[in-house]
Amino acid sequence: MIEIDEEEYKKYRIPNELIGNKRENVIGWDEAFMLQAVVIAGRSKDPSSQVGACIVDENNHILSLGYNGTPKTWNDNTFPWERKADKDYHTKYPYVIHAEMNALLNYKGNNKSLDGATVYVTLFPCSNCAKALVQAGVKKVIYLSDKYKDTDDNIAAKICFDYCGVEYEEFNPELQRDLIVSLKPNEGLSEIQTSDEIMKLTKNRNSNH
Ligand code: ZN
Repeated sequence: MIEIDEEEYKKYRIPNELIGNKRENVIGWDEAFMLQAVVIAGRSKDPSSQVGACIVDENNHILSLGYNGTPKTWNDNTFPWERKADKDYHTKYPYVIHAEMNALLNYKGNNKSLDGATVYVTLFPCSNCAKALVQAGVKKVIYLSDKYKDTDDNIAAKICFDYCGVEYEEFNPELQRDLIVSLKPNEGLSEIQTSDEIMKLTKNRNSNH
């Protein structure tokens, strides 16, 4: 170990006025990961339901993303996105792969990393995805919407999580807000603060087109 005496140390120390001036209002991890789920849901071609999932390990590293879509070699143009038809096998249901399932299946890393992972989902998982998440080792589910709450399948998913020791919680309502994501250079992420700003944005958007 190198010994530095007090005087040497003072010489190299960063002056107090140059430290600690960090940006304070950064988004939290939960927001960052739920944003990933919301954004990837935008890739879904399902006309009635767009769902996203983001799996994160215990060190806050993103392992995988998924959205509801078709089996990978099925041409989108020949896929039945309908919810109702004379035959169930002419609807989307037997074929569509849910966001959580896609996130699990897309993951190409070491399966051990999924042990203790958290999944951020825009919609509470169905029972089929719930058991797959359990089996993969996921220990926590954070969801935005639970719009099928109290349906039999939703209850089954919760029973499965409860018996298997998987925690589930709603994305903190205090963090539920509108953010503006810009894909223009040097703009990034910002929050809509007031209704005036929304008006201004709408106006700008309209004048741009
Ligand atoms: Zn599902």
